[in-house]
Parts: sequence; structure tokens; C-alpha cells
Amino acid sequence: MLGMSSPFTLTVTLVLAAVFAGGTAAQMPSTPLTVVPIRGGVYLVKGGSGANTGFIVGAKEVIVIDSKMTEESAKAVLAEIRKVTPNPIRCLVLTHGDGDHVNGLSGFPQGLPIIAHATTRRDMEVAFKDPKLSALAPYLPNDTNTAGRSLNIAGARLDLLHFGPAHTSGDLVVHLPDQKLAFVGDLLFVGRDPLIHRQKGGNSFGLVQTLNKMLALDADTFLSGHADALTKADIKTLLASIEEKQAKVQALVRQGRSLEEVRAAMGVAAPPGGGTGMRFPSLVEIIHQEVVEKR
Ligand SMILES: [Zn+2]
Repeated sequence: MLGMSSPFTLTVTLVLAAVFAGGTAAQMPSTPLTVVPIRGGVYLVKGGSGANTGFIVGAKEVIVIDSKMTEESAKAVLAEIRKVTPNPIRCLVLTHGDGDHVNGLSGFPQGLPIIAHATTRRDMEVAFKDPKLSALAPYLPNDTNTAGRSLNIAGARLDLLHFGPAHTSGDLVVHLPDQKLAFVGDLLFVGRDPLIHRQKGGNSFGLVQTLNKMLALDADTFLSGHADALTKADIKTLLASIEEKQAKVQALVRQGRSLEEVRAAMGVAAPPGGGTGMRFPSLVEIIHQEVVEKR
């Protein structure tokens, strides 16, 4: 959604940002940052521009998870990290390639290891072709060897897990077994339907599988891009709601209902401008496309 510049799309972007933040004023764009200590040297950074960021403080170094949406906001995160520890940043790990998670990379020093799934790098290569994002060219992930990878930072372990296509096709879950928590990017939303980016290979049935794998992790705290710390109960609620929508849409498609009829039956508004308006497709529309493709 980044790189669009008309007033209309800007409005949509801001509205979506507000929606991502759960509609709370405390998380609206360009608000001050809030650093929330979680446990075991792990911090969640809320506020600023873009999605939540996290960082992990080891005895000698710091790992940063995701990088905000603007250079300014990323620099503000670095300043907050400096208030907590003098330890240098060892590397960045990206949960996926959406602009609200990665477009602040230029606020970090150049040359840091940037770890991400290979398809996240591909998504970023496409996005960074936008001339407005040219400052990000030196910040493509330079380490995409994530399969089954464990990082060790001062004795603490980070497992990089990819459970297949879900929000995008390059989502990484960063599991810290010692702290029993995981950074999950945009795999977990509360109070709204999840976003599935089909153009980035995302898939709602894949998201169900991924959420089940997250439930099986030895963790009780889940740090996502657009919410406070969450629990397995939140994962179960989201899973149930996605599976219910999938079952309903599948039944409607089996009955030969059109997309318009499915939208009407599921209470989803048609896109503005007869389909030419700018908005992310709803979960119901994504599921409809997936179910029709499978037939
Ligand atoms: Zn995202």
C-alpha cells in the first residue's frame, strides 16, 4: 500500500493504519514511541509510524525485529534502544516485507546483516523499484538463509520458523524458546479479519496451518505488528473465525453463488468505484478466490 500518492489513497492508508492499530489513538501514526518490556531482555516498541517493532537485548548485542515505516521512526526506535542498552545492533530480522514493517530500514546503519525469508527479499526488491523508495536500495535482506535457522545471542536462542504461505509467502516467526515468546509479524490480528496478500503469495488456508503451528510452539506470548502482546487464546479466536468464514464461503460456492452473492450473504461491502477503488480485498473475497481456484 505504500508508494501511492493521491489524496484518496493517502486517506485509505491512514485509515488502514488506524485499523491496524486497533483504532486506539495511542498507536496512530507519528505518535511517540512506547517501549514495553516483555521479559528476558525482550521489548516491544509501539507507536511511531508503521507496525510494532521489537528488540532483544543480549549481554553484548541487540537484535531488532522489523524496522518501522519511516526512516524518522526507525531512528526514534534506535534512540529508545540506546536508553535501554549501549550494546550495538548485531542484526535485523524481518517478519515479512510489507512497507509498514520495512520502509524504515534506511534509519539503520548500512551494512548490518538483514535476515529475511527469500520471498520477502523478492517482495522488497519489487517494492523498492519505486523511485520514492530509492533510499532503501542498500537495505535489501542480505541473509535469506532462514530455513530451520537458530541464532544465538548471548546464550539466548532465536529460532527462525517459516510455516508456508499465510499473510505473505515469506512470513517468519521468530521464536524465543527460553523466553517462551514469539514475534509473529502480521500472522496474528485481533478484533479484525487478517489481511492476506495474494499478490505476495499469501493464502488463508495456509494461514490456518501456520496458526496451528504457532499454537504448538512452546510459547505463551505472541508479539505482532499491530496489537499488544497476545496469547494462545487470541490465536484460537482468530483460527475459529477464519475457519468459520472458510466453511461458509465453501458452502456458498458449492451452491453456485456468485462473488456478489457471497459478499451479500457474508455482509461484505462491494469495493468502492465498482472494484477500481483502492482497498485491500476482504478475507471473504480472498477465501472466495481460493475456493473457486481449487474447484
Ligand atoms: Zn503485513
